[in-house]
Amino acid sequence: MDRNDMMTASDLHPRNSGNPRKTEIFRNRNPESVATNVETIMTLELTYYPDPILKKRAPAVQVIDSELRARVREMFEIMYEENGIGLAAPQVSWSTRLFVINVTGDPEEGEELIFINPQILASEGEEIDEEGCLSIPDIRGNVARKYRVHVKAQGLDGKWFDLEAEDLLARAIQHELDHLDGILFIERLSPASKLAVKKDLKQLAKQQPPGS
Ligand SMILES: [Zn+2]
Repeated sequence: MDRNDMMTASDLHPRNSGNPRKTEIFRNRNPESVATNVETIMTLELTYYPDPILKKRAPAVQVIDSELRARVREMFEIMYEENGIGLAAPQVSWSTRLFVINVTGDPEEGEELIFINPQILASEGEEIDEEGCLSIPDIRGNVARKYRVHVKAQGLDGKWFDLEAEDLLARAIQHELDHLDGILFIERLSPASKLAVKKDLKQLAKQQPPGS
């Protein structure tokens, strides 16, 4: 999910619901040294609509090892570079059930959340708000989501955790979880939004032939 969502969200810092565990964060980074590191280490790249991998249901993560942890770190780097607040593995051509979120979109702030093999256990309420997606540049529209979700997932240590989230964090979780099931937010747009982005979507599909 892209960072512009913050602008329309009523609460940038979701209420401290559930106290999710924090994972390692790169602090006090010098942007230049990061850029150099990124060039030498990065192996993942953002995938764009209509790449077929975005339409696939991703299989469960079986092994949580150092390679997976390194890729998760890369996903955070890509997400921050692209001004995102969430990124799912299929968006970097990695078809596996995992996504990362930091609702502040700022590596120096907020909490870095990692959801491996996530499941929504319960949800309630409904809220309509604008969304965007890093894999579908410049397209935005209104999507109805559950206002509150109770989610269960594994962390980088393999342990299961529970999280109650609402508002923007709940929205981000639902958006990213959809990616693991091959569902894009454009499929969930309100009829008016769907109509409004129809032309732009067609254009995008032309620019980015499958597999490019
Ligand atoms: Zn997305």
